[in-house]
Amino acid sequence: MIYSSWRLLAEAVSVLMESAPANIDVDEVHDAMTDVAGVAEIHDLHVWTITSGLISLSAHAVVTDHHSDTETLRAMREMLHDRFGINHITIQIEPEGFEERPIPV
Ligand SMILES: [Zn+2]
Repeated sequence: MIYSSWRLLAEAVSVLMESAPANIDVDEVHDAMTDVAGVAEIHDLHVWTITSGLISLSAHAVVTDHHSDTETLRAMREMLHDRFGINHITIQIEPEGFEERPIPV
């Protein structure tokens, strides 16, 4: 029982240890996303590996011009794939001044 719990914990820790892919500089990803036309700010950025070859990204993107949301999202996704090889992408688009309240647990 104790052994089994320990093994589960060890597996969870090993998953966490994989969370930062060695070949990806998260600060560089952040700057590259901010450089995309229409993007004012990036926050809550996370990059991690699920299995080898599958790099996931989640982020919040504050966009300035909502007429080009589609184009901005497409540009971010293509850039992340072409430049960083990130192939599983989840981006939350937010309007400027969006009040992000904590979600109660
Ligand atoms: Zn946010």
